[in-house]
Amino acid sequence: MSLNVTAAAYHPSAQDVYANVDFSSLSWIEKQWAGWYIGIGNLVIATGLMSFLLHEIVYFGRALPWIIIDAIPYFRKWKLQPGKVPTPQEQWECTKLVLFSHFTVELPVIWLFHPLAEAIGMATYQVPLPSWRTMLPQVAFFFFFEDMFHYFSHQALHTGVLYKHIHKIHHKYSAPFGLAAEYAHPAEVFILGTGTILGPLLYCYFMRDLHICTVYVWIFLRLCQAIDAHSGYDFPWSLQHILPFWSGAEHHDFHHMAFTNNYSTSFRWWDRMLGTDDKYLAYRKKVEAAKAAMKNASKEDKDEIERKMMAEVEAEGIRAEALAEGNGRQLKVE
Ligand SMILES: [Zn+2]
Ligand SMILES: [Zn+2]
Repeated sequence: MSLNVTAAAYHPSAQDVYANVDFSSLSWIEKQWAGWYIGIGNLVIATGLMSFLLHEIVYFGRALPWIIIDAIPYFRKWKLQPGKVPTPQEQWECTKLVLFSHFTVELPVIWLFHPLAEAIGMATYQVPLPSWRTMLPQVAFFFFFEDMFHYFSHQALHTGVLYKHIHKIHHKYSAPFGLAAEYAHPAEVFILGTGTILGPLLYCYFMRDLHICTVYVWIFLRLCQAIDAHSGYDFPWSLQHILPFWSGAEHHDFHHMAFTNNYSTSFRWWDRMLGTDDKYLAYRKKVEAAKAAMKNASKEDKDEIERKMMAEVEAEGIRAEALAEGNGRQLKVE
């Protein structure tokens, strides 16, 4: 059956769009992909449902190991702020707000995504799927674009009204945990989510060659990045020890603890180039110097020194937060 019938051409069913596809030439995953669209029947619903499920499964699936790690004291030695382990109550409160945002902001936006994607020429139901050689440079561009977008909009969110009414919610936790990655005001979810999705939209608009499955690979990696950056743990095998320009938890945990510096998501280069990691670098140096000076001291003593330094940075952060909110004058009088 071809798509030359006018009504069918505007609203093709899943069966219609696969009419000329030779299924015997497809890989297993491509058959599943087409099977999903055929099984659901409606292309818009099939894309919307797949996007929403992908987001929920990856978000909570990736956060789960961190919830388990938080419950096991053995892992405490790698916790960046060891004195601040989230309670189950805190994790539940966080989950409720995250779910609220997912259903009120992300679900409607995801639903609009299929028509928008089609309008700019993004492939959705089409098979075969692109090869990893096609996907790799596209995903690399999305990483670069999102990191840049996030750096500048995150800095804007740290000023006056935007901080007070929007970004303050995300800074509720000075020691973040995996589930808190998307703990934010719905407006922030929308603003910062734009950075995630605008890269693929721009790429597709100008290059006219993008499959939504590449966008899914990107979103999968971006969610893992965001959740891991909020995990609160720095293991010897964490990615930032292999790729020195990768931000990771160690970088973003400082942002939550000190309220300042380290505005980017995936990479360290914007903060380094524009000097917004000065306090972070000074703090790291100070901790290393203190530890070196106490080489022969007990582990408890070293931990105690680090704990004191963290408390100082956090106290400074509380002052910086008050200034950002515009409460600087009252603070100086106090
Ligand atoms: Zn922030
Ligand atoms: Zn954060």
